[in-house]
Amino acid sequence: MRVGVDVGGTKVLGVLIDEAAGGAPVVLGRIRLDSLPGAAGVTGQVVAAVQGLCSSAGVPVHQLSGVGVGIPGVVDPDRGTVSHAVNLGLVETIDLGGILAAELGVPVRLENDLNAAAVGAAALLGLARRDLVLLALGTGMAAGLLLDGRLRRGAGGAAGEIGHVTYRADGPLCACGQRGCLESFASGRALEAAWLGRPADAAERREGPAPAKVVAAAQDGEPWAVAVHETFVDAVATAVRVLVLTCDPEHVVLGGGVAGLGEALLGPVREALVRQTEDSPFLRSLRIPERLALVPPGSEPAAVGAALAVPHPEHQEVLWRS
Ligand SMILES: [Zn+2]
Repeated sequence: MRVGVDVGGTKVLGVLIDEAAGGAPVVLGRIRLDSLPGAAGVTGQVVAAVQGLCSSAGVPVHQLSGVGVGIPGVVDPDRGTVSHAVNLGLVETIDLGGILAAELGVPVRLENDLNAAAVGAAALLGLARRDLVLLALGTGMAAGLLLDGRLRRGAGGAAGEIGHVTYRADGPLCACGQRGCLESFASGRALEAAWLGRPADAAERREGPAPAKVVAAAQDGEPWAVAVHETFVDAVATAVRVLVLTCDPEHVVLGGGVAGLGEALLGPVREALVRQTEDSPFLRSLRIPERLALVPPGSEPAAVGAALAVPHPEHQEVLWRS
């Protein structure tokens, strides 16, 4: 058995995986903890997640074949280091893999969280050919690229930063310094801002997180929400189209918190892709709408993918690459 942990800005998700089954990963246990900032906070919560999972399953930690950790920021999986995980208060480079391995007494492998999510999504969706882009619509927008079965990290570690492709040159200023980036229109933060800035006469009684409230208001025909939702969907579809035109992956899988909308996200994005491609015989031939999928609802692709990135004890290979 092995453990995968997804360290996010607000929560730490852990899964215990049975590796003996072969085929699709079998999740034997799950744990969810709050994130704590800084090296001590991150280390402590990962250790607590591993210990919690093992104690619930009655498995001693030292019997795990390894622990995989998905974490935002610039990750060097071979060295086990992470830096620029700004939301976690980890700015300087730290040897998180080494620290965790010493504390837990088992091999630890670090991976960027989006890369881990791409690997996890391929496994959870049972994709025989691991050729997909995971488009994460979380607080921001970014993609994990698993192309021809290999992760594309990029020469500077910036592969998949599609959220900062310009969508509207006269759009709002982005934290990156450009104007009108895709993630200013198509992210959880964008929908949150739209909900907070809704007109004073908008209906107040809405359930769930901001994306669900905006979608519900759009479905009720409130003009402000219809406009926000149309732009959001068009921007997501644009990101999908750009990803297919640059990487030509077999699948584009929508993930991240906003993907919790489920069919209410997938259907409109698919329709927008049909609109965006119908006038071009070339784009139509790429069958972009058919490549679109969602991460399985309620699954933890980044935690599962992190677990799968741990080298296998027998053939000493990363499972998803073998
Ligand atoms: Zn930007």
